[in-house]
Amino acid sequence: MGQIPRFLSWRNMLVLSLAINFSLILKILKGDRERGDSWDRTAYVSIWPVVSTTASESSSLSSASCNYSKIEEDDDRIINLKFGDPTVYERYWQENGEVTTMVIPGWQSLSYFSDENNLCWFLEPELAKEIVRVHKVVGNAVTQDRFIVVGTGSTQLYQAALYALSPHDDSGPINVVSAAPYYSTYPLITDCLKSGLYRWGGDAKTYKEDGPYIELVTSPNNPDGFLRESVVNSTEGILIHDLAYYWPQYTPITSPADHDVMLFTASKSTGHAGIRIGWALVKDRETARKMIEYIELNTIGVSKDSQLRVAKVLKVVSDSCENVTGKSFFDHSYDAMYERWKLLKQAAKDTKRFSVPDFVSQRCNFFGRVFEPQPAFAWFKCEEGIVDCEKFLREEKKILTKSGKYFGDELSNVRISMLDRDTNFNIFLHRITSSFNSTL
Ligand code: PMP
Repeated sequence: MGQIPRFLSWRNMLVLSLAINFSLILKILKGDRERGDSWDRTAYVSIWPVVSTTASESSSLSSASCNYSKIEEDDDRIINLKFGDPTVYERYWQENGEVTTMVIPGWQSLSYFSDENNLCWFLEPELAKEIVRVHKVVGNAVTQDRFIVVGTGSTQLYQAALYALSPHDDSGPINVVSAAPYYSTYPLITDCLKSGLYRWGGDAKTYKEDGPYIELVTSPNNPDGFLRESVVNSTEGILIHDLAYYWPQYTPITSPADHDVMLFTASKSTGHAGIRIGWALVKDRETARKMIEYIELNTIGVSKDSQLRVAKVLKVVSDSCENVTGKSFFDHSYDAMYERWKLLKQAAKDTKRFSVPDFVSQRCNFFGRVFEPQPAFAWFKCEEGIVDCEKFLREEKKILTKSGKYFGDELSNVRISMLDRDTNFNIFLHRITSSFNSTL
């Protein structure tokens, strides 16, 4: 081994080698980015619908008609459909950019308080008004005589609800259950702080313990899209209804939901996940008060700027439904989901390599017509003896999905986001219908 010059200690050598490695990594990343930016390979194939790739590109397309005549394929690109990132809505909001643009001067949002006369003192009155209005326009939830609690996403409201509904005596943590397949984040959030108030109790379908418990009812359900009701056969259950997807682009709105605690979010209704606003409609004053107390302790309220932005977005959504000129937000988003589900179901039928759930049609009071649910996620089952569907899609197709095991279900199932940009969705469709020649 060569001699190390005396002025270079082992520490110097370590720093030098880290610096060299770091610059190499930067170079590779830069190369990747450049390759990505300059990549412009477009294959024109009639059967694969594709719409747009980038934000700027999509703005030039009309929301009223999707361009289903060209496909863009990148053999190397990893397509990540693990998360329900709602970028499918980007185009609509680009085209309606003007009406939703806001300017917030620097002197605004200094006070912690939004409305000192309201039980939820950090709720912006404008947001409260638009929440009530949008539920009335859509007809998906009762708002009369309810307390509105705003949260940093419905993720925070879920935790606030657990805090509010758990007994605060010495009875020990209350079990929190949900029927499998359940939203994979529930067990993680429930147990992350190892609370003395509540703990994850698993699959509601097999839950048999005596005494009070909390049951989460997600309807339509994440991951499989079915409408749900509580399943535990007991009178001691306290219910939280997560209605993140009870909007007409995903499912027929059959009646206004009327439950004790209902959670909604801008993330999946209008697609504004990054603004991080959710709201709860709560029947009981004391439950609402405790939820508010939790949010006070957790974040001393919720960003005013975010609330004002969502108020504006909801206003535009309600206006688009009430003014009959042009396509409403829900017409647009319904059409996008309809096209995607039509193609996915057709691909399942043609290839028989995978299956997706069968749904029953119902009449939607909002649209005034009958249709099948077209959920935000596809609960996708690999056929042909593929045991580990997530592994197969990742290794053979370069498609990242979330395995059924995270939802309390089988490895042959995966959850696939139906909310990504058109390009990714179309590449996904293309790849899953090209030959399945693995024995994984
Ligand atoms: N509930 C369900 C069923 C969800 O799917 C999601 C988002 N994936 C959430 C809650 C969380 O929503 P938010 O972005 O408002 O925290």
